[in-house]
Amino acid sequence: MKNKTIVLLLAASGAVFSPLSFGQQRAAGPIVVQGAMPVEAERFAQRLENPREEQVGGWRFWHGTVDGYPVVVSETLKGMSNAAAATAIAATRFHPVAIINQGTAGGHDPALKVYDIVLGKYSVNLGAFKTPAKAQGEGSDSRQWRPMDLLASKGSAGEDKNAHSIRQFPADGPLLAIAESVKGRYKQGRVVEGVIGSADVWNSELDRIRYFRDSYHTSVEEMETASAAQIAAAFNIPFVGIRVLSNNITNQGKYDPQTGLACQDYVYQVVKAYVARAAAK
Ligand code: SAH
Repeated sequence: MKNKTIVLLLAASGAVFSPLSFGQQRAAGPIVVQGAMPVEAERFAQRLENPREEQVGGWRFWHGTVDGYPVVVSETLKGMSNAAAATAIAATRFHPVAIINQGTAGGHDPALKVYDIVLGKYSVNLGAFKTPAKAQGEGSDSRQWRPMDLLASKGSAGEDKNAHSIRQFPADGPLLAIAESVKGRYKQGRVVEGVIGSADVWNSELDRIRYFRDSYHTSVEEMETASAAQIAAAFNIPFVGIRVLSNNITNQGKYDPQTGLACQDYVYQVVKAYVARAAAK
Protein backbone atom coordinates (compact mmCIF):
# COMPACT_ATOMS: atom_id res chain seq x y z
CA MET A 1 0.00 0.00 0.00
CA LYS A 2 2.83 2.33 0.89
CA ASN A 3 4.54 1.68 -2.48
CA LYS A 4 1.37 2.38 -4.38
CA THR A 5 1.07 5.82 -2.80
CA ILE A 6 4.59 6.77 -3.83
CA VAL A 7 4.04 5.73 -7.45
CA LEU A 8 0.83 7.77 -7.68
CA LEU A 9 2.54 10.83 -6.28
CA LEU A 10 5.37 10.62 -8.80
CA ALA A 11 2.90 10.20 -11.64
CA ALA A 12 0.99 13.27 -10.54
CA SER A 13 4.17 15.38 -10.50
CA GLY A 14 4.93 14.28 -14.06
CA ALA A 15 8.47 13.29 -13.06
CA VAL A 16 8.29 9.75 -14.33
CA PHE A 17 5.73 9.44 -17.09
CA SER A 18 5.91 12.74 -18.91
CA PRO A 19 7.20 12.25 -22.50
CA LEU A 20 8.68 15.75 -22.27
CA SER A 21 11.04 14.80 -19.48
CA PHE A 22 12.20 11.80 -21.54
CA GLY A 23 12.82 14.04 -24.55
CA GLN A 24 14.82 16.50 -22.47
CA GLN A 25 16.87 13.68 -21.02
CA ARG A 26 17.72 12.44 -24.53
CA ALA A 27 18.66 15.89 -25.74
CA ALA A 28 21.24 16.15 -22.96
CA GLY A 29 22.45 12.57 -23.32
CA PRO A 30 26.15 11.76 -23.47
CA ILE A 31 28.28 10.54 -26.36
CA VAL A 32 29.29 6.94 -25.63
CA VAL A 33 32.77 5.88 -26.79
CA GLN A 34 33.28 2.11 -26.75
CA GLY A 35 36.54 0.14 -26.69
CA ALA A 36 36.90 -3.60 -26.09
CA MET A 37 40.26 -3.90 -24.35
CA PRO A 38 42.00 -1.69 -21.78
CA VAL A 39 44.48 -0.58 -24.48
CA GLU A 40 41.45 0.53 -26.54
CA ALA A 41 39.53 2.40 -23.80
CA GLU A 42 41.72 3.60 -20.92
CA ARG A 43 43.56 6.30 -22.85
CA PHE A 44 40.28 7.99 -23.76
CA ALA A 45 39.01 7.60 -20.18
CA GLN A 46 42.16 9.34 -18.92
CA ARG A 47 41.46 12.32 -21.18
CA LEU A 48 37.97 12.91 -19.70
CA GLU A 49 37.45 15.98 -17.54
CA ASN A 50 36.23 15.10 -14.00
CA PRO A 51 36.15 11.32 -14.60
CA ARG A 52 34.14 8.97 -12.40
CA GLU A 53 34.29 5.19 -12.82
CA GLU A 54 31.17 3.04 -12.59
CA GLN A 55 31.04 -0.77 -12.68
CA VAL A 56 27.86 -2.42 -14.04
CA GLY A 57 28.01 -6.21 -13.97
CA GLY A 58 31.26 -7.15 -15.71
CA TRP A 59 31.62 -3.82 -17.52
CA ARG A 60 33.45 -0.60 -16.65
CA PHE A 61 32.13 2.83 -17.64
CA TRP A 62 33.86 6.18 -17.10
CA HIS A 63 31.64 9.28 -16.93
CA GLY A 64 33.13 12.69 -17.58
CA THR A 65 33.15 15.52 -20.09
CA VAL A 66 35.04 16.63 -23.19
CA ASP A 67 35.03 20.42 -23.58
CA GLY A 68 32.20 20.45 -21.06
CA TYR A 69 29.97 17.97 -22.96
CA PRO A 70 29.07 14.65 -21.23
CA VAL A 71 30.93 11.61 -22.54
CA VAL A 72 30.84 8.02 -21.27
CA VAL A 73 33.75 5.73 -22.12
CA SER A 74 32.66 2.09 -22.12
CA GLU A 75 35.00 -0.89 -21.90
CA THR A 76 32.84 -3.43 -23.75
CA LEU A 77 35.24 -6.37 -23.36
CA LYS A 78 35.97 -8.55 -26.39
CA GLY A 79 33.51 -10.26 -28.71
CA MET A 80 29.97 -9.97 -30.02
CA SER A 81 28.05 -10.88 -26.86
CA ASN A 82 30.04 -8.53 -24.65
CA ALA A 83 29.66 -5.69 -27.15
CA ALA A 84 25.89 -6.23 -27.41
CA ALA A 85 25.43 -6.30 -23.65
CA ALA A 86 27.57 -3.22 -23.05
CA THR A 87 25.62 -1.36 -25.75
CA ALA A 88 22.25 -2.31 -24.26
CA ILE A 89 23.41 -1.23 -20.80
CA ALA A 90 24.62 2.12 -22.14
CA ALA A 91 21.42 2.65 -24.16
CA THR A 92 19.05 2.02 -21.28
CA ARG A 93 21.05 3.68 -18.49
CA PHE A 94 22.56 6.71 -20.20
CA HIS A 95 20.29 7.47 -23.23
CA PRO A 96 23.24 8.50 -25.42
CA VAL A 97 22.88 10.91 -28.36
CA ALA A 98 25.53 8.91 -30.22
CA ILE A 99 27.61 5.74 -29.89
CA ILE A 100 31.10 5.41 -31.36
CA ASN A 101 32.55 1.92 -31.39
CA GLN A 102 36.31 2.09 -31.94
CA GLY A 103 39.47 0.03 -31.56
CA THR A 104 41.79 -2.30 -33.42
CA ALA A 105 41.10 -4.50 -36.45
CA GLY A 106 42.79 -6.81 -38.93
CA GLY A 107 43.07 -5.77 -42.57
CA HIS A 108 41.19 -7.49 -45.41
CA ASP A 109 42.20 -4.85 -47.94
CA PRO A 110 45.85 -5.22 -49.03
CA ALA A 111 45.97 -1.48 -49.80
CA LEU A 112 45.50 -0.65 -46.10
CA LYS A 113 48.51 -0.55 -43.76
CA VAL A 114 48.87 -0.94 -40.02
CA TYR A 115 47.89 2.46 -38.45
CA ASP A 116 45.45 3.31 -41.27
CA ILE A 117 41.95 4.04 -39.98
CA VAL A 118 38.66 2.80 -41.43
CA LEU A 119 35.50 4.85 -40.87
CA GLY A 120 32.78 2.21 -41.15
CA LYS A 121 30.12 3.34 -43.64
CA TYR A 122 28.46 0.09 -42.58
CA SER A 123 29.30 -3.15 -40.78
CA VAL A 124 28.35 -6.79 -41.38
CA ASN A 125 28.19 -9.88 -39.17
CA LEU A 126 30.77 -12.38 -40.46
CA GLY A 127 29.52 -15.06 -38.08
CA ALA A 128 25.94 -15.61 -39.30
CA PHE A 129 25.77 -18.21 -42.08
CA LYS A 130 23.92 -21.35 -43.16
CA THR A 131 26.11 -24.10 -44.53
CA PRO A 132 25.07 -26.19 -47.53
CA ALA A 133 24.07 -29.80 -46.80
CA LYS A 134 26.97 -32.21 -47.11
CA ALA A 135 27.13 -35.91 -46.37
CA GLN A 136 29.59 -37.40 -43.94
CA GLY A 137 33.07 -37.40 -45.44
CA GLU A 138 32.30 -34.49 -47.81
CA GLY A 139 34.18 -32.04 -45.62
CA SER A 140 33.59 -28.34 -45.11
CA ASP A 141 34.30 -25.22 -47.17
CA SER A 142 33.32 -21.95 -45.53
CA ARG A 143 33.33 -20.17 -48.89
CA GLN A 144 30.16 -22.11 -49.75
CA TRP A 145 28.31 -20.82 -46.71
CA ARG A 146 25.48 -18.38 -47.38
CA PRO A 147 24.80 -15.38 -45.18
CA MET A 148 21.90 -15.68 -42.78
CA ASP A 149 20.19 -12.46 -41.74
CA LEU A 150 18.89 -13.12 -38.25
CA LEU A 151 16.79 -9.95 -38.33
CA ALA A 152 15.02 -10.69 -41.64
CA SER A 153 11.92 -12.32 -40.15
CA LYS A 154 10.45 -13.86 -37.05
CA GLY A 155 10.37 -17.29 -38.67
CA SER A 156 13.27 -19.66 -39.30
CA ALA A 157 16.17 -17.68 -40.74
CA GLY A 158 17.65 -20.89 -42.11
CA GLU A 159 14.53 -21.74 -44.16
CA ASP A 160 13.55 -18.18 -45.13
CA LYS A 161 14.75 -17.47 -48.69
CA ASN A 162 14.68 -13.72 -48.01
CA ALA A 163 17.14 -14.12 -45.16
CA HIS A 164 20.09 -15.14 -47.38
CA SER A 165 21.63 -11.77 -48.02
CA ILE A 166 24.04 -10.13 -45.62
CA ARG A 167 22.58 -7.40 -43.41
CA GLN A 168 24.37 -4.08 -43.47
CA PHE A 169 24.35 -1.99 -40.30
CA PRO A 170 24.84 1.55 -41.63
CA ALA A 171 26.65 4.41 -39.91
CA ASP A 172 24.62 7.48 -39.06
CA GLY A 173 25.21 9.97 -41.90
CA PRO A 174 25.93 13.12 -39.87
CA LEU A 175 28.13 11.17 -37.43
CA LEU A 176 30.15 9.71 -40.30
CA ALA A 177 30.53 13.20 -41.77
CA ILE A 178 31.90 14.49 -38.45
CA ALA A 179 34.31 11.53 -38.30
CA GLU A 180 35.47 12.45 -41.82
CA SER A 181 35.86 16.12 -40.97
CA VAL A 182 38.94 15.61 -38.75
CA LYS A 183 40.76 13.32 -41.21
CA GLY A 184 43.40 15.92 -42.02
CA ARG A 185 44.64 15.91 -38.42
CA TYR A 186 45.72 12.25 -38.44
CA LYS A 187 49.41 11.87 -39.18
CA GLN A 188 50.04 8.18 -38.45
CA GLY A 189 48.36 6.77 -41.54
CA ARG A 190 45.50 7.20 -43.98
CA VAL A 191 41.83 7.56 -43.02
CA VAL A 192 39.35 5.93 -45.42
CA GLU A 193 35.68 4.98 -45.48
CA GLY A 194 35.10 1.25 -45.62
CA VAL A 195 33.24 -1.81 -44.44
CA ILE A 196 33.82 -3.46 -41.05
CA GLY A 197 33.18 -7.21 -40.66
CA SER A 198 32.64 -8.63 -37.17
CA ALA A 199 32.50 -12.13 -35.67
CA ASP A 200 33.84 -14.11 -32.74
CA VAL A 201 36.49 -15.41 -35.12
CA TRP A 202 40.06 -14.35 -35.87
CA ASN A 203 40.57 -15.24 -39.55
CA SER A 204 44.09 -16.10 -40.64
CA GLU A 205 43.23 -18.02 -43.83
CA LEU A 206 44.07 -15.76 -46.76
CA ASP A 207 41.57 -17.46 -49.10
CA ARG A 208 38.74 -16.94 -46.62
CA ILE A 209 39.73 -13.29 -46.07
CA ARG A 210 39.81 -12.78 -49.84
CA TYR A 211 36.38 -14.39 -50.11
CA PHE A 212 34.94 -12.02 -47.49
CA ARG A 213 36.41 -9.03 -49.27
CA ASP A 214 35.13 -10.16 -52.69
CA SER A 215 31.66 -11.09 -51.39
CA TYR A 216 30.97 -8.47 -48.72
CA HIS A 217 33.56 -5.75 -49.52
CA THR A 218 35.12 -5.88 -46.06
CA SER A 219 38.05 -3.52 -45.43
CA VAL A 220 38.81 -4.93 -41.95
CA GLU A 221 37.63 -7.54 -39.46
CA GLU A 222 37.23 -7.40 -35.70
CA MET A 223 34.87 -8.73 -33.05
CA GLU A 224 32.46 -6.00 -31.89
CA THR A 225 31.25 -3.35 -34.34
CA ALA A 226 28.35 -5.13 -36.12
CA SER A 227 27.03 -6.33 -32.79
CA ALA A 228 27.10 -2.88 -31.18
CA ALA A 229 25.62 -1.37 -34.37
CA GLN A 230 22.74 -3.86 -34.32
CA ILE A 231 21.83 -3.00 -30.74
CA ALA A 232 22.26 0.76 -31.25
CA ALA A 233 19.86 0.53 -34.22
CA ALA A 234 17.31 -1.31 -32.07
CA PHE A 235 17.39 1.69 -29.72
CA ASN A 236 17.45 4.19 -32.59
CA ILE A 237 20.77 5.68 -31.45
CA PRO A 238 23.09 7.21 -34.09
CA PHE A 239 26.14 4.97 -34.45
CA VAL A 240 29.50 4.84 -36.18
CA GLY A 241 32.37 2.32 -36.06
CA ILE A 242 35.95 3.63 -36.32
CA ARG A 243 38.75 1.06 -36.52
CA VAL A 244 42.52 1.26 -36.81
CA LEU A 245 44.45 -1.56 -38.46
CA SER A 246 46.57 -3.26 -35.80
CA ASN A 247 47.51 -6.05 -38.20
CA ASN A 248 47.06 -6.99 -41.84
CA ILE A 249 48.16 -10.45 -42.97
CA THR A 250 47.21 -9.66 -46.58
CA ASN A 251 50.31 -7.43 -46.79
CA GLN A 252 52.50 -8.78 -43.94
CA GLY A 253 51.42 -6.00 -41.57
CA LYS A 254 52.59 -7.13 -38.11
CA TYR A 255 50.30 -6.82 -35.06
CA ASP A 256 50.93 -3.60 -33.11
CA PRO A 257 48.71 -3.00 -30.06
CA GLN A 258 49.91 0.64 -29.82
CA THR A 259 47.58 1.34 -32.75
CA GLY A 260 44.75 1.17 -30.20
CA LEU A 261 46.10 4.39 -28.65
CA ALA A 262 46.26 6.13 -32.04
CA CYS A 263 42.63 5.23 -32.68
CA GLN A 264 41.52 6.73 -29.37
CA ASP A 265 43.41 9.93 -30.19
CA TYR A 266 41.59 10.10 -33.52
CA VAL A 267 38.20 9.46 -31.91
CA TYR A 268 38.99 12.14 -29.31
CA GLN A 269 39.21 14.61 -32.19
CA VAL A 270 35.92 13.27 -33.58
CA VAL A 271 34.22 13.82 -30.21
CA LYS A 272 35.64 17.36 -29.96
CA ALA A 273 34.28 18.12 -33.44
CA TYR A 274 30.88 16.72 -32.43
CA VAL A 275 30.84 18.87 -29.29
CA ALA A 276 31.88 22.00 -31.22
CA ARG A 277 28.97 21.45 -33.65
CA ALA A 278 26.51 20.81 -30.85
CA ALA A 279 27.62 24.07 -29.18
CA ALA A 280 27.25 26.02 -32.45
CA LYS A 281 23.59 24.92 -32.86
N1 SAH B 1 46.39 -10.07 -29.63
C1 SAH B 1 45.32 -9.79 -28.73
C2 SAH B 1 44.04 -10.08 -29.48
C3 SAH B 1 42.80 -9.86 -28.77
S1 SAH B 1 41.43 -10.74 -29.41
C4 SAH B 1 45.46 -10.67 -27.53
O1 SAH B 1 46.07 -11.72 -27.67
O2 SAH B 1 45.01 -10.31 -26.44
C5 SAH B 1 40.85 -9.72 -30.64
C6 SAH B 1 40.45 -8.34 -30.27
O3 SAH B 1 41.16 -7.47 -31.14
C7 SAH B 1 38.99 -8.11 -30.52
O4 SAH B 1 38.47 -7.20 -29.59
C8 SAH B 1 38.93 -7.58 -31.95
O5 SAH B 1 37.95 -6.57 -32.11
C9 SAH B 1 40.33 -7.04 -32.21
N2 SAH B 1 41.02 -7.51 -33.43
C10 SAH B 1 42.15 -6.94 -33.90
N3 SAH B 1 42.56 -7.58 -35.00
C11 SAH B 1 41.70 -8.57 -35.27
C12 SAH B 1 41.64 -9.58 -36.28
N4 SAH B 1 42.55 -9.69 -37.25
N5 SAH B 1 40.60 -10.46 -36.24
C13 SAH B 1 39.70 -10.36 -35.26
N6 SAH B 1 39.73 -9.45 -34.27
C14 SAH B 1 40.71 -8.54 -34.26
